[in-house]
Amino acid sequence: MSAQLIDGIALSQKLRAEIAARAASLTAQGKQPGLAVILVGEDPASQVYVRNKVKACGDVGIHSVLEKYDADLTEQALLDRITALNNDPTIHGILVQMPLPKHINPHKVIEAIATSKDVDGYSVLSAGEMMTGLDGFRACTPYGCMKLIESTGTDLRGKHAVVIGRSNTVGKPMALLLLQANATVTICHSATPDLGVFTRQADVVVAAVGRRNTLTADMVKPGAIVIDVGMNRDDNGKLCGDVDFNGIKEVASHITPVPGGVGPMTITMLLMNTIESAERK
Ligand code: NAP
Repeated sequence: MSAQLIDGIALSQKLRAEIAARAASLTAQGKQPGLAVILVGEDPASQVYVRNKVKACGDVGIHSVLEKYDADLTEQALLDRITALNNDPTIHGILVQMPLPKHINPHKVIEAIATSKDVDGYSVLSAGEMMTGLDGFRACTPYGCMKLIESTGTDLRGKHAVVIGRSNTVGKPMALLLLQANATVTICHSATPDLGVFTRQADVVVAAVGRRNTLTADMVKPGAIVIDVGMNRDDNGKLCGDVDFNGIKEVASHITPVPGGVGPMTITMLLMNTIESAERK
């Protein structure tokens, strides 16, 4: 059996076309959606991430503001900037690129963002809203994974989903979204003694670990859907995920590649959340 590829690039393009149409409609009503992206310091990976986010905004007609600060910016100065953006009616989403320099408390910064503009969905209030089934913003990567699963036409009701990883930004919100879709959810982590015992029972596996070959073909039930969030480097420096793609594609029904699976969806869902924020206004 050879699994069908879940193409995150194609799905992203389709969703971005929808986002562009919604942005155009808001702009025609004088309410162009706006995203503020804040970068503190010179981290090279972060520079690429913010550049990609700003470019993606431009491509779909979302107004974006990129604020770059030196690494010695004080925590108070950053908090003051966030307060100003919270009160700026042209801005519907605020994103502070992580990691921040060590002297700035990231929790304090995330909590300073108004919940109505927390398009990353990282704040305690956003997480609580999601936990209790309210209308908070969904964390972008898990939200993208849900769209990828949805694109296979699978109804998650009654299915067993196993999430590997329990980070606040990926694993935990992923498990909550699967639960909301009526899956039966198991969360595995580094203290899970025998991962395969759980993954072999799963109709859907989402791997969000950060370690290649965490999931191999012998750990996957025939016909399962496998979503690979991981971003790692192989021995040749090539980007790869957490799952053994070549082995698992012979067992699974659907699988996301790395690159070209979850990665492109994360920025797309950030754009989607920004549009949703502007529409809520
Ligand atoms: P993280 O905060 O480091 O969390 C990793 C999780 O994996 C932890 O919960 C950890 O368990 C668990 N884990 C570690 N070793 C394990 C093992 N041997 N068996 C089972 N579980 C294990 O990482 P993250 O931020 O969630 O990101 C995970 C991966 O996704 C990374 O590769 C990251 O780069 C990637 N990522 C990709 C995107 C994208 O857009 N494509 C977005 C975000 C993240 P403990 O809690 O017990 O330590």
